[in-house]
Amino acid sequence: MTYPFKIERLASLQAAARRIADLQGRAAILGGGLELLDFARSGADQTPEILIPIRQIAPMSYIETRSGEIRIGAGTSIAEIADSTGIRRVAWPLTESANAVGSSQIRSQSTLAGNLLQRPRCWYFRNGISCFKNGGNTCPAATGDNRYHAIFGGGPTYSVFQSDPGLALCALQATLVIVSPDGERTMPVTDLYVDPKQDASREHVLKPGEIIREIRITPLTDRYVGTFMKIRERSGFDFATVSIALIYNNFHGRFKDIRVYLGGVAPRPYVPEKALNQIQYKKLGRGEIPPAADLAAEGAAPLEHNAYKIPMVKRLFREAFEVTYEKLSWRPD
Ligand SMILES: Cc1cc2nc3c(=O)[nH]c(=O)nc-3n(C[C@H](O)[C@H](O)[C@H](O)COP(=O)(O)OP(=O)(O)OC[C@H]3O[C@@H](n4cnc5c(N)ncnc54)[C@H](O)[C@@H]3O)c2cc1C
Ligand code: SF4
Repeated sequence: MTYPFKIERLASLQAAARRIADLQGRAAILGGGLELLDFARSGADQTPEILIPIRQIAPMSYIETRSGEIRIGAGTSIAEIADSTGIRRVAWPLTESANAVGSSQIRSQSTLAGNLLQRPRCWYFRNGISCFKNGGNTCPAATGDNRYHAIFGGGPTYSVFQSDPGLALCALQATLVIVSPDGERTMPVTDLYVDPKQDASREHVLKPGEIIREIRITPLTDRYVGTFMKIRERSGFDFATVSIALIYNNFHGRFKDIRVYLGGVAPRPYVPEKALNQIQYKKLGRGEIPPAADLAAEGAAPLEHNAYKIPMVKRLFREAFEVTYEKLSWRPD
């Protein structure tokens, strides 16, 4: 098969950023290429004319600890992240999320930045059917086959957030280092994803010419517990139907600094605020978990075929708290 793009090799990230900005959407960074090749094969009109391989510009594949942070090069593969003992020790929800990605082949090829920026798996969009994300002005999923679509925060698009590592990085309050033609800036990963009410055509806020160079994480101390869990249709190899990344602090016997993000249920990582407020600062105790889990799906607005996700959200929320509660170094019960 002949692919409809050219590969361009540039000397620096800055030069790549300038080139992509100048070409306004006609050029893009090439990570592992999984996503880009998928679009090229499907015939959906999403393939840029020029691809700039990031791994050949600079050393982009590394995991190191510097200035008290874990620093991960944007081109590091998901497999390397899954295998890193440094990450497992102080940022284990990221390890768990990396292990949950696709198959071992997919994990070896995918880069962390490419994974964070993957586009929705919605079958209308992937098959080139006109919708908000490919130049149209409707969402056929809203009234069509919406089994795998959003139950929270949907409209006008009902696609769902699918990056397993992205969810864990939100809970870890990771920071992105972004290179652009004007220089470098940092941004919390939680600010990366667009509210579809503001712009239904895209999922992230990066402008053409903005390149993720590095991802930084502050290590969790031993006061913290956390986990990443995922429900999927086929056991070994599938995107999340519902997923959760959870981290909290055992602060003098209370639930504190709780961070919960749900995947597979909303166009971007979803925070179940009511459930959080129910449990935040409460005394540590198993009894606090079920009432909070009952609130985890508050505000859900399911479509015709996806109300089955509501009990899954409650179940996963409860299980994630129970699993982490068991791991606390001190428990009252
Ligand atoms: C069969 C299959 C199963 C999968 N299962 C899962 C799963 O269970 N969980 C999950 O989380 N993911 C899953 N994925 C997604 C996969 O892990 C990849 O992350 C994804 O396909 C893209 O990664 P990539 O490195 O190949 O990105 P690419 O295809 O190279 O790039 C993707 C996008 O990101 C842009 N980009 C890449 N790097 C940068 C950068 N540094 N700065 C700015 N822009 C950049 C590219 O221009 C492109 O727009 C699956 C994918 C497939 C095909
Ligand atoms: S859910 Fe989003 S991606 Fe899917 S058809 Fe609707 S607008 Fe397109």
